[in-house]
Amino acid sequence: MKTRIAEVISLGDELVSGQRLDTNSQWISQQLNELGVPTAFHSTVGDNFEQSLQVFETAVQRADIVVTTGGLGPTADDLTREIIARVARVTLERDPEVVSHIRQMYSRRKVQMPESNLVQADFPAGATVIHNPEGTAPGIDFIFSPDHEHSRECRVFSLPGVPAEMKQMWLLHVKPALKELLGSPAVIMHRTLHIFGEGESKIESMLPDLVRRGKDPTTGITASAATITLRVSTAGANETECQQKIEPVLQTITQTLGDLVFGADGQTLADVVIDLLKKRGQTVAVVDAGLHGEVASALAMADHDRTALRNAILPASNLFSTNPETAEKSDSNIQSQSMSLLGWAKRVRQENEADFGIAIGPVDRDPAMIESGKSVFRVLIACPETGGQSSVSEKEYVFRGHSSWRQQRAVKQVLNQLRLFLNQRD
Ligand code: ATP
Ligand code: MG
Repeated sequence: MKTRIAEVISLGDELVSGQRLDTNSQWISQQLNELGVPTAFHSTVGDNFEQSLQVFETAVQRADIVVTTGGLGPTADDLTREIIARVARVTLERDPEVVSHIRQMYSRRKVQMPESNLVQADFPAGATVIHNPEGTAPGIDFIFSPDHEHSRECRVFSLPGVPAEMKQMWLLHVKPALKELLGSPAVIMHRTLHIFGEGESKIESMLPDLVRRGKDPTTGITASAATITLRVSTAGANETECQQKIEPVLQTITQTLGDLVFGADGQTLADVVIDLLKKRGQTVAVVDAGLHGEVASALAMADHDRTALRNAILPASNLFSTNPETAEKSDSNIQSQSMSLLGWAKRVRQENEADFGIAIGPVDRDPAMIESGKSVFRVLIACPETGGQSSVSEKEYVFRGHSSWRQQRAVKQVLNQLRLFLNQRD
């Protein structure tokens, strides 16, 4: 089967000036990828006729599918219709059905329609109108030969810039049209595995064969805020064929990486921890003086019926003592008595009748590391053993990394510590 390649064009002064980020291209390319169409180029251009024309002419020469967003409004800087007509060497024709749709939209909203709005009913001759259920600007679906010899065809889809309208029109019109155009083998399968605890290059070096280029299935690696994702993709005639190709790769990865793999297909660390707790009918309570309640918040979001997370408290950091001698004074008044991490973990567990108590200590500047500006925090997880003894997992972490993701990473470290502690106790 011939591989068709795509180009995505975004139009708008607000995009090239940096006022707004072009998120449409990202979303569209992800959608194209799901359909098995690789995007070869992203082009962004301001609302300028000559420059946009140049971009469109280049795109229809080098791509088989061109998806554009923006520039379909009624104002003079909305140039997409005219440019497509120019590139395809056809005229613009006014579509009577679209005229009445636009008139209706205005009368429903009880506003006077400026006549200039009807330019949105102009279409390159021969194009198909993509209905816009939410807005006045319809889209364009146009197949034409970009060269004089008519040796190849290009298909252009033009959608409005407003992301919500663009997405709705994609799903209603463009996606089904592309599925039909591409025919079968229609199944493209992607599976993802999520990893925590090692860096991207370490993971890559542990799986040298898989991440090599030109393999089927392909395995891609991405990192985001200390979580690594491996995405395994393949195409086939049906789901079973794809599964048969993908399963051995997933197995190799989980065997090689072991406990580093925490989840699959979009699961977060909090989802996995909550699943583990629910499967055993167990519960957790959190006391947090260092991470602003974010560990508990992640658990609460994953715990939809709130049966696994019992409670969370956020005491002031001066209520945490580094002296283990203060650990057992659990009958004293919480508000005035500082306790050790162990004391807090046991107390929060007992008072909430939870199976596990997590105590996250304050993020402290370690004098030994003060020069490098690093801080440390300690985390203790306690759970009861038969006979009244506690079993604990205690770890010290360095609060480090770029400020934009240091906190997220710290939260993940705590969730991962709980996950590993739960796994050990199987
Ligand atoms: P149309 O009329 O075709 O919907 P337009 O270019 O006339 O598009 P604008 O008024 O320029 O519409 O944009 C509508 C809104 O959509 C604006 O808030 C704009 O920032 C946003 N937008 C446009 N293009 C993009 C894009 N590529 N990514 C994200 N947002 C976008
Ligand atoms: Mg615009």
